[in-house]
Amino acid sequence: MEQLKTNLISENFGKNLFSDEVMRERLPRDVYRKLKKTIEDGNELDRSIADVVANAMKNWAIERGATHFTHWFQPLTGITAEKHDSFIEGVSGDGHAILHFSGKELIKGEADASSFPSGGLRATFEARGYTAWDCTSPAFIREDAVGVTLCIPTAFCSYTGEALDKKTPLLRSMEAVGVQALRFLKLFGNTTSRRVMPQVGPEQEYFLVDKEKYLKRKDLVYTGRTLFGAMPPKGQEMDDHYYGSIRERIGSFMHEVNIELWKLGVTATTQHNEVAPAQHELAPIYTQANLAVDQNQMVMDTLKKVAYRHNMKCLLHEKPFKGLNGSGKHVNWSLSSDDGINLLSQGDTPEENIRFLLVLALMLSAVDKHADLLRYSASDVGNDQRLGGCEAPPAIISVYIGQQLEDVLNHLTETGSAGALSKKGERLHTSVRTLPEFEMDTADRNRTSPFAFTGNKFEFRMVGSSDSTSSPNVILNTIAAEALADACDVLETAKTKEEFDLKVHDMIRDLLAKHKRIVFNGNGYSDEWVEEAARRGLPNISCMVEAVPALTSEKSVKLFERFQVLSKTELESRAEVEYETYSKAVNIEAKTMLDVAGKDIIPAVISYIGHLSEVVERMHKVRTLCGESVLPDHPEVKRLSECAALLDEMQKAFEHLEVTRTEVRAIEDLKLRAEAMRAKVVPAMEALRAPADRLEMIVDRSYWPMPSYGDLLFEV
Ligand code: ADP
Ligand code: MG
Repeated sequence: MEQLKTNLISENFGKNLFSDEVMRERLPRDVYRKLKKTIEDGNELDRSIADVVANAMKNWAIERGATHFTHWFQPLTGITAEKHDSFIEGVSGDGHAILHFSGKELIKGEADASSFPSGGLRATFEARGYTAWDCTSPAFIREDAVGVTLCIPTAFCSYTGEALDKKTPLLRSMEAVGVQALRFLKLFGNTTSRRVMPQVGPEQEYFLVDKEKYLKRKDLVYTGRTLFGAMPPKGQEMDDHYYGSIRERIGSFMHEVNIELWKLGVTATTQHNEVAPAQHELAPIYTQANLAVDQNQMVMDTLKKVAYRHNMKCLLHEKPFKGLNGSGKHVNWSLSSDDGINLLSQGDTPEENIRFLLVLALMLSAVDKHADLLRYSASDVGNDQRLGGCEAPPAIISVYIGQQLEDVLNHLTETGSAGALSKKGERLHTSVRTLPEFEMDTADRNRTSPFAFTGNKFEFRMVGSSDSTSSPNVILNTIAAEALADACDVLETAKTKEEFDLKVHDMIRDLLAKHKRIVFNGNGYSDEWVEEAARRGLPNISCMVEAVPALTSEKSVKLFERFQVLSKTELESRAEVEYETYSKAVNIEAKTMLDVAGKDIIPAVISYIGHLSEVVERMHKVRTLCGESVLPDHPEVKRLSECAALLDEMQKAFEHLEVTRTEVRAIEDLKLRAEAMRAKVVPAMEALRAPADRLEMIVDRSYWPMPSYGDLLFEV
């Protein structure tokens, strides 16, 4: 015990949270009880206790040094937003500041939200947006250069109640899947569970580079990724970075990140070097979905802030360096009841196992049916560079379940004729009886699968490192809710236990027969898989612009409206925001390329060509004096003509990019503009990069205007 007291974790953990313990200590007993019930039931805070809670929160925060409070919300930009207000309410007669924080301010904040993307949901003249406390996610204080701020995790809605953020649909989807999963459990005889919640553990990958060098790379500064850059002599081929020992500078960074996160109640646990040089990973222990999503935002924020203090820059972009591994965010997802039943776990009894197999079959059907939505949920501008590239999951959604489980499923679908199977429930039952003996083998996990069943959870590996984890969870929750609801609709019609068992058996068999095509245990990185997937009719959606339409398809609108997660209007507004975000991001990248090429690279190459010409001219003079001639295949001459040709190519590509970008930028329709950005501007950018990267390999290092990949990656 003594040791624990001085342990860094126990000393810091939850220190900056308005935690259950703090609430119990500081709130009158009846208020505490009411609040606790509200949190457990996931309801809105009762106004009658709001003032008392707000006051206790304010006093606690002020004692911890807080001067301001903010509603901390997650607009559609995917990052968090906040507007700070101080606790000053006025000045007393004797000149002291009066500090105040009311229940009204706690429950609801009003933000002038006209600058946040809303996809036309909120006209600028009706700029008000409301932020409402999600009291299932505890308030916290944040200490940084701004000072100490009380942060209240909130949802963000328009005046008319439409969701303008990433949190509102998440909460709605959690509710939806929770209700259906509980209904499902009850059908299987459960009498003890009160709630089911999706559980989420996101693993976060990131790069660290030196700040001084970073500042010399305008592409990194403006876009978060390198838009130029040739591969260094050494990349990741030696695999010497993965799980390698952590260098001092990185170690002291990780140490501080952990402490900051522990204070915020984030269970930062795993840390290691990743495959690419300068790439690392951090993973917390899983928790309920909305907390996990909030905490992942805190993780990203903390990584950036602490890196800055250590004179480094944390790159969260999905593909900061071409030719090296990109960064992802593995979203581990499962469904658990308040009394510890994980619906994705094999049980100890044949009954539990048949339930497990049905859940698995239902998830396979959900993923197959809504592969396009899942693919959409993992798309952001940066992920277009990563998916399907070097060592990243392909853009095709498939599910890895492992050989053993596939054998079991095959057995279930292939044993006898369909009719015989349903009549002879016994046979199926017998095979199920053998299940408790088989241990899920986690050793053969397939790293190339975008969606893998890993023992008692699904691991969605497609998600991008800089993206909010909200959308993937909204989709997972909602498609699971649909599959479970459909199953319950059928199973609830069974009049006897026997009939119920038969229906369960038939359902598993039918679902598997119909959706087996989504199962793929092989190498997802291979070209054969792309062909095989096409044969199976699985969608291969290569980029974000192609992924967005999934959001507003008839099938999606029906799904989201059925579970009241998002309305048609909300979905359409989200699609608009996606298109607009995409076009803006690509446009910024294009402009940055033009800026760097025009003001840095091309002038540097011209200087170098000038220098080379002088050298060649001098050689020419010397040789003429000696009666010899300079041969065209002399190395210096060859280098000169190669540089000149590449410069020429660059100049042409430069002009082409400028013209194309301007044309596309002028397209009114958001969807058409985004499509043209993808079809025309992106290739024009690649055409400018190619000669520049070749030039970097031949131009004298002292002329090159910015740090190279080698400088950035190996000198952190
Ligand atoms: P990996 O080998 O992929 O790093 P881990 O076992 O370390 O896998 O788990 C990765 C993440 O998955 C962690 O955040 C962990 O807490 C989370 N996780 C583990 N079990 C579950 C579960 N049942 N539901 C959701 N997430 C889980
Ligand atoms: Mg993982």
